[in-house]
Amino acid sequence: MINKKECEIVQDLLFNYSDDLLNPESKKLVENHLLECKECQNKLTQIKEDNKKYNNKEKIEIDYLKKVRIKSKIKSLLMTLAIIFIIVFVYYFIKFIKINDIIRKSEEYSKSNNYYIERIEISDGVAFGLKTYYKDGKYKEVCEVYTDAGVEKDMEIYGSKGSSERVTISYKNNTALIETGTSAEITNNANKIKTDKDKNIFEIIGKTFKTSITTDNYDIGREYYVIKDYPYYDRIETWVDKENGLPIRKITRGAYKDFFAGTKIMKKVSDRIENYSYEFGNVTDEDVKVPDLSNFEIKYSTTMGG
Ligand SMILES: [Zn+2]
Repeated sequence: MINKKECEIVQDLLFNYSDDLLNPESKKLVENHLLECKECQNKLTQIKEDNKKYNNKEKIEIDYLKKVRIKSKIKSLLMTLAIIFIIVFVYYFIKFIKINDIIRKSEEYSKSNNYYIERIEISDGVAFGLKTYYKDGKYKEVCEVYTDAGVEKDMEIYGSKGSSERVTISYKNNTALIETGTSAEITNNANKIKTDKDKNIFEIIGKTFKTSITTDNYDIGREYYVIKDYPYYDRIETWVDKENGLPIRKITRGAYKDFFAGTKIMKKVSDRIENYSYEFGNVTDEDVKVPDLSNFEIKYSTTMGG
């Protein structure tokens, strides 16, 4: 017979028994008792089932926590990506607006019927000037050279839009060359204001990606954009007036290289600087009128074609 007392002792031990924590003697005792006692067997089954349930529950909770953690990681990753995207988008959008603005403003000026443009190219100790006078389809271009000796007028060119005649006066040779034909006509019709006139929106977007634009006011006293085009970021920069979208200066670094005679050893590297200035509405009819050619030796040239 099994007495109640033994049942109590065994049931006290059952938890540790199911976790396999008993010493061999106690284990033996419990097992012997279990063989004969239905009640304690049931108790053990109950304990095992409870243990199982408890373990399952714990596992589910851990799984749940893992899922929550992964979800929040994904969320913060997506947030980071969204923020990066917004920053990049705003950056390029601002650039796009600036480029568009420059092009729009410069286009207004390129429609002008009365302008004077001065382009001075400075390189190693010499400067070349190209001055363009334009009024109602007629133009005059003056080429000058500036050295330590002073200003030397080199050439003057006269033409008018739609005309196939062009006159080039050379002060060096004291000649006047009268050109007629297609090439003279093409030159006459060319627009003299050279600005960035890309109108195609996709080209502008493309430009936005490969152009760097910063703002500066060095040396000029007013603000301008410094535009650098890929892939020549370090070599070429153009300054564009914020007010009118017209170029003020173009710098080409290392454009000129001097070598010691007969060697490949570089003596000097220098930059080419082109400075531009503009005036609108001040050109007179007199400025663009072909002068009296009687003092020059007159030469003729004809280009045929089309
Ligand atoms: Zn029992």
